Order: sequence, then C-alpha cells, then structure tokens
Amino acid sequence: MEDGVYDDVGSFELSEVDRGERVEMMVDIYVSADAVRAQETNTQRETKAQQTSVRTEIRCSRLAVVCVGLLCVLLLTTNIVLNMYYTKVKESIYSLRVKFTAERETLLSSIRNLTEERDQLKSSYQNLTEEKEQIKNEFEKLTEEIIILQTKHEQILLKCICAHHSVEEKSCFKDWKKHKSSFYFFSTEQKSWSAARQDCRERGADLVIINNREEQMFLIDQKKGRNFWIGLTDEDKENMWKWVDGQPLTDKFWKKHEPNDANDVEDCAVFTTTAEYGWRTWNDMSCSVSENWVCEFNTTKCH
Ligand code: CA
Ligand code: CA
Repeated sequence: MEDGVYDDVGSFELSEVDRGERVEMMVDIYVSADAVRAQETNTQRETKAQQTSVRTEIRCSRLAVVCVGLLCVLLLTTNIVLNMYYTKVKESIYSLRVKFTAERETLLSSIRNLTEERDQLKSSYQNLTEEKEQIKNEFEKLTEEIIILQTKHEQILLKCICAHHSVEEKSCFKDWKKHKSSFYFFSTEQKSWSAARQDCRERGADLVIINNREEQMFLIDQKKGRNFWIGLTDEDKENMWKWVDGQPLTDKFWKKHEPNDANDVEDCAVFTTTAEYGWRTWNDMSCSVSENWVCEFNTTKCH
C-alpha cells in the first residue's frame, strides 16, 4: 500500500510552484502514512493485546480447568477416603456391636447361673435351717429322755441298793453319800475291822476300796475328823496287801514309814485324818482295834 502511494506521486509532473504543494502533500501523505502506520501499529498492538488477552484467558481457562480437575480429583479422593473411613468405622461399629452382644449374652448367662446358684443356696439354707430345727427338737427330746432315763436309773439303783439292804428305799438311801459310780456310808460307831466289814456286808456293800487318787482325795475332802477302816488287809499273807474283792494293791497312799506291821500284829489298813503327809493317809493297825469305818457300794453291781 505504501509503495502504491509513492508510485502515484512520481507520475505527476510538477512545477516548481507546485513543488511546495507537492512537498506539503508528501508531508501530508507521509503524515497520513505515519498516521496509517501508527494506526496500524495501534491496531497491531490492540491485536497483540487482544491475542495476549485471549491467551491469558485461555491460560486462565486452562488453569481453571486444571483447578476444577484438581478439585474433582481432590473431591474424588476425599470421597474415596471418606468412604473407606466410613466403611472402616461401620465395620468397627459392627465388630463392637457383635462383641458387645457376645459379652452381653455372657453376662446374662452369668447372671442366670448366679441366680440359680443363689436360689440353690437359699433352698439349701432353708433346708439346713429346717434340719437344724429338727435336730434341735430331737436334741431337746433326747435331753428330756436322758433326764427321764437318768431318773429311772437312779430309781433302779436305789431299788438295787435297797434290795441289798432289805429295808425301805427312803430310809436306806438317806445316810449314803454318792460320788461317781459309788455310794459311801460313813459309820458313827466304832468296831473292829471284821465287825465293820460285816456291817457293810449286811448293808449290801463292803468296806471301801480306794481305786485311785481321785477317790482318795474324795475321802480326804470329807474331813470326818477320825480314823476309819478301809477294805485292805494282809491277813492271809504278810505284806501281801489285797482289797476285800481280791484285787491286788496298785495305787498306794501309805503314810511315811507305813505299813510297819508294828509288833507283828498290824494287818488291817485304816484311813487316818492327819494331813501332814498330804494325800498319804494310810496306816496298818491291829485288826482288833475299834475304829469307825466306811462302806462302799459300787453301782456297777446293778448293771
Ligand atoms: Ca472304790
Ligand atoms: Ca502301822
């Protein structure tokens, strides 16, 4: 376009007068051309600016698309993660529910078992209480029966003693002292050993036989304040002491230096009252001496 303008200008034949106009025209033309050129430049700049703007918009659009894509990916990823987390939580809840249900069943079963055991224990306790009451009642009945039997036994013994005495029950029993399984009669008279024994035998008894230390202490505790014959003698053979029932002497309670068989005539044993030797109270004396005596009736004879 620029070349065409200059060609048109060259084709005119100009006078010198017109040269000024020509110059002006050329100037105008150049100005116009510059203007056109400037306009073209502006147009190009605008175009470039538009292109730049378009490219920018395209970039922005692409960036937006990328961002949207990234957001979609992020959302998708988040969705997947949340879905996985939800699934995991759901499985955990299900697992906990199953576990809780199992534990609940176990606890319920334990409660049922404990309840049954409690009921059984309660029933056993009631049964034991009833048995206890029954045993208590039976014990009371047996106690009453024992008392009745003891009373009957005493009555039988009394009859037994009285049968030996051949006297009435009340009168024969009142002068006897009961200790353990024996009754004892303490005489108020004094006789020889043989006469004393005879008196005991007439009463259905015999002179006392001291079987052990307990019986010895019982006789000491009576504190009669006088000597009395006991059923011990060596008349048959010297120094072979025997009880009146034939038993040999075992537990011995001789006083110190006794038996001494003084003057070779002391063959019968007497229970003295001296306390200087403690429980050792026996002495051998002449059987003909008059002393008090003690009879013993052992109730085992009545059995
Ligand atoms: Ca005795
Ligand atoms: Ca003596």
